[in-house]
Amino acid sequence: MAQEIRTVMVVGAGQMGSGIAQVAAQTGLRVLLHDVKLALAERGRGVIEKNLRRQVEKGRLSDGDVAEILGRITLTDKLTAAAEADLVIEAATENLEIKLDIFRTLDEAAPAHAILASNTSSLPITELAAATRRPAQVIGMHFFNPVPVMKLVEIIRGLATAQEVYETVRALAERMGKTPVEVQDFPGFVSNRVLMPMINEAIYCVYEGVATPEAVDQVMKLGMNHPMGPLELADFIGLDTCLAIMEVLYEGFGDPKYRPCPLLRKYVKAGWLGRKTGRGFYTYA
Ligand code: NAD
Repeated sequence: MAQEIRTVMVVGAGQMGSGIAQVAAQTGLRVLLHDVKLALAERGRGVIEKNLRRQVEKGRLSDGDVAEILGRITLTDKLTAAAEADLVIEAATENLEIKLDIFRTLDEAAPAHAILASNTSSLPITELAAATRRPAQVIGMHFFNPVPVMKLVEIIRGLATAQEVYETVRALAERMGKTPVEVQDFPGFVSNRVLMPMINEAIYCVYEGVATPEAVDQVMKLGMNHPMGPLELADFIGLDTCLAIMEVLYEGFGDPKYRPCPLLRKYVKAGWLGRKTGRGFYTYA
């Protein structure tokens, strides 16, 4: 039996959190959008408003719709706001210590019935669950970037996740217009276990002088029909995020086939993180 979800709290108002908040509000849910500072939550709301205005220009939404959607979003810098949530989706920075801390605090603040979900790309759901006194109500809800566009949500069952919690989250993902896919809790889940080693291998091709970044991307686009080449995609995701995920795979499986390419480490050390810093495998204006 799925549980009814009316109020969703989104923790972390960055790239992913603002997208999740937007789609939840467009679904008619009440949304509490949290970040460490109110100004960061406001920035997230600004991104949502800009996206919605673009929909108005395309004739897909009216000004009234935009006002109504934005009216469902409340900003906060306090995790205690979880007291009003039926579901919390954590989308803070990909760092285990930060997330463990958030889950401990949410467990104190959220009502007994609330489900705590994480949008983590690679960290163990079972470990986040173990930081709470409600491991049966902890689950992974892995959205893709940009959230309003991408259909997939990987739903990750932790070791202790209850069937009812899984069904509630699956039904909610469908209500949000997404296609949920069930995955068990192992490093990288399915998406990043398959994608990241491909990106890492593309970086090895550049590192070993097999081909230029442009040539590697062209091979994968024209030969494999990928809409973006792996290096273009790495720059889009963020090279720091790519490295963090490779480290999780390397450590989690203890298999040298997941070793991060030294060139990826070098770029991250240089602060060449891709699109967001203006330079990665390509340069951006
Ligand atoms: P981001 O850097 O754009 O946003 C992270 C936000 O979290 C920032 O606004 C930051 O201020 C906030 N934050 C940091 N510590 C916090 C705390 N203690 N409490 C509340 N907020 C805090 O990053 P993002 O790309 O949105 O990624 C967020 C999560 O989503 C990560 O776990 C990431 O792995 C995952 N994810 C990212 C992608 C992607 O393509 N970028 C895709 C799927 C999942």
